[in-house]
Amino acid sequence: MTPMMMSELTITSIMKHAERVNGATEIVSVTADNPRHRYTYKDAFKRVRQLANALQTLGAQPGDTLATLAWNDYRHLEIYYALSCSGMICHTINPRLFPEQIDYIVNHAKDKWVFVDATLVKVLEPLQDKLPAVKGYIVLSDEAHMPDTSLNNVHCYEQLIATEKDEFDWPELEETTPSALCYTSGTTGNPKGVMYTHRSTVLHSLASIAPDVFSLSVRDIVMPIVPMFHVNGWGLVYSCPMVGAKLVMPGPKMGDGETLCALINEEQVTCSAGVPTVWLALLDYLAKANKSVDSLNRVTVGGAACPEMIMEQFQNQYGVDVQQAWGMTEMNPLGTFNGGIPPLLDGISDEQRKKLRLKQGRPSFGVDIKVVDADNNELPWDGESSGAVKVRGPWIVNDYYGYDGKTLDEDGWFETGDVACFDEYGYMQITDRLKDVIKSGGEWISSIELENCAVNHPKVAEAAVVGIPHPKWTERPLLLVILKDGEQMEKAEMLAWFEDKVAKWWIPGDCVFVDSLPHTATGKLSKKDIREDYKDFRWQDES
Ligand code: AMP
Repeated sequence: MTPMMMSELTITSIMKHAERVNGATEIVSVTADNPRHRYTYKDAFKRVRQLANALQTLGAQPGDTLATLAWNDYRHLEIYYALSCSGMICHTINPRLFPEQIDYIVNHAKDKWVFVDATLVKVLEPLQDKLPAVKGYIVLSDEAHMPDTSLNNVHCYEQLIATEKDEFDWPELEETTPSALCYTSGTTGNPKGVMYTHRSTVLHSLASIAPDVFSLSVRDIVMPIVPMFHVNGWGLVYSCPMVGAKLVMPGPKMGDGETLCALINEEQVTCSAGVPTVWLALLDYLAKANKSVDSLNRVTVGGAACPEMIMEQFQNQYGVDVQQAWGMTEMNPLGTFNGGIPPLLDGISDEQRKKLRLKQGRPSFGVDIKVVDADNNELPWDGESSGAVKVRGPWIVNDYYGYDGKTLDEDGWFETGDVACFDEYGYMQITDRLKDVIKSGGEWISSIELENCAVNHPKVAEAAVVGIPHPKWTERPLLLVILKDGEQMEKAEMLAWFEDKVAKWWIPGDCVFVDSLPHTATGKLSKKDIREDYKDFRWQDES
């Protein structure tokens, strides 16, 4: 017998707590059928119970995996809770994946039913013949707004739950029960599934609400712009109900600066989270429309490095603090967060502070993290030693779902594929992605730094750097550049740009001007595709 109670850490406990303690808190959503849907946590969890009954009527069983193809809104939130708290698995699909990836993951996950937003039925229609295990589709709509669709066995969400009871006897789940599934859109091989559990979700939520992390409170009004199909909307779908924060969900309008600005001002949003691209859309709209976002006090930028320009504009023009976060699908996603600055650093100059804020932040409690050299020796946190980042902890993947290969290294650490250095205060700075690192003459070159340097050239719109095999140096960096509209430049001018900015041996071996660059479904440069496109590239000094 343990001296303290052993209660299972479950998502059901988050739901019950939110309903009982903060039932009056609002959830505001934009959907295809309603520009401003508004109700409370109490209303939401009543409908969650109706949906749990509807799932039983459909014949879904605990342990089944059901998929969602949906935006950030109240119905998606209801599905999250109804599935996980019934002992089923909520498999969120990124609608921006390529069709072959969608049918691969639906089949790999053995999804039994698919919940699909009315705006996304077109994505599934051409695929349904390739999805033999799917029993049917539930369209997230009321009857009046049901789209015409060729999907088989279609149900209307509102009709489905309307006749169900709003009482449900939630099962007593063990905390290790799988709750949600998300496939990584990694750049190599088939997408890999990460299966979260009730326990990993609750512990991740507890860590992420802390003051130096998302710092969430019952007084916050949170607008998760990061989609709920990206690592559970960075966990905000659970952490906001955990503290009772009001949720504002932009639905299909997450890339629309005007709607985001309107939602922030109408609902008095205090905190928001998303990838750099959405902030560019919002900042662009604010500048053009001469608007402000006075209620917003902080935004979290993650998923990719935060550009200096985003941080400066938010801070200097709109008084919004920008807090960078780093993590990944395999980490639920929280790894490091650039929140509160330790008092030891109070005396640093403005310039040092700027540099510090652009780092990926400090590890959250619960994330054990180290950087290692090529021989797996741990490197010191000295602000200089860069190495592969490895992590372990209660919300880090142990085994990719249904995967034959190895997920962890022989010591039980997960290798993130990122390269970083830590300073003595525990701040991590990502210097590259492992697969993008260019090893030239036995030394590493950062493709990210070269890309950042190239895009600082006033004529350059976008740049990519990949390592291309070289007979003498093993690999050399090749630079691909998209010029801004109307600009012209010679190769020599572009390469000369690097001369006083990077070490001589870092300067790209060649430069190609292109009209477009391939991106992954999540908007990152697809280095795998670029390397494939240029696999036959010959260096001039190659015989
Ligand atoms: P994903 O699993 O799609 O979320 O991708 C995770 C990867 O995105 C990480 O391994 C990093 O390579 C990258 N990433 C996430 N956050 C950041 C950040 N703040 N700065 C730089 N890279 C990031």
